[in-house]
Amino acid sequence: MRKTVIAGNWKMNMTPAETKAFITELAPMVAGLDKCDIVLCVPAIDIPAAVEAAKGTNIKIGAENVHFKESGAYTGEISAKMLVEAGVDYVVVGHSERRQYFGETDQTVNLRTLAAVNAGLTAIVCVGETLEQRNLGYTETLLKYQTKMALTGITKDQLKNIVVAYEPVWAIGTGVTATADQADEGNGFVRAAIAEVYGADVAETVTVQYGGSMNDGNAAELLSKVNVDGGLIGGASLKTDKFTAIVKAAN
Ligand code: PEP
Repeated sequence: MRKTVIAGNWKMNMTPAETKAFITELAPMVAGLDKCDIVLCVPAIDIPAAVEAAKGTNIKIGAENVHFKESGAYTGEISAKMLVEAGVDYVVVGHSERRQYFGETDQTVNLRTLAAVNAGLTAIVCVGETLEQRNLGYTETLLKYQTKMALTGITKDQLKNIVVAYEPVWAIGTGVTATADQADEGNGFVRAAIAEVYGADVAETVTVQYGGSMNDGNAAELLSKVNVDGGLIGGASLKTDKFTAIVKAAN
């Protein structure tokens, strides 16, 4: 059985006060919906407020990035140890916005993934093709390459702390969602890449999410697909009613 994980990615939205208000409102709405992990990945400044507000609820808190070194002269960065001590369970690694705007490469995604997992965090590793790459027919090759690169050095045992999110870049924040079949196919390519390295039995145990304009209207169909084990949700995670509807679809 694979764990279903519904994770919000707030990006650069919400202040600490708004975070507290949001989680206080959300907690009773998702109480008892325990057939999936419910995660909110929030800006670093919001983590203390989020952890405090989520205490005693079934909501877990994630970060949106992690540095690969334990400490040192890396102005503006946050280490895995800092996140663990702050009460964080999950961290997004290699989101396409970080690849696009902040020079994230497959190598740094791999280093961040290793740092996160070695510190005991669960890494949500993002992979996905651009529209141009899809139109050129590179989707499978690229997803397999990104997945294998990101997981280099991760042991079979550590895979229990890995979630891979297939996020077609053309579907993120655009309102254009992959069809359920496209999502299932992309997630299948990710799982096949994991199988090529770790074996099919192991690959069957790894949670592979879909992300890209998932919302309260399309979640049920996307989540019904055999390879879709949850969602990474941007825009729709900023509204308690929409996010709750997605969590309910996963339950
Ligand atoms: C994301 O930020 O990972 C994402 C999928 O965003 P959206 O749901 O807004 O497309």
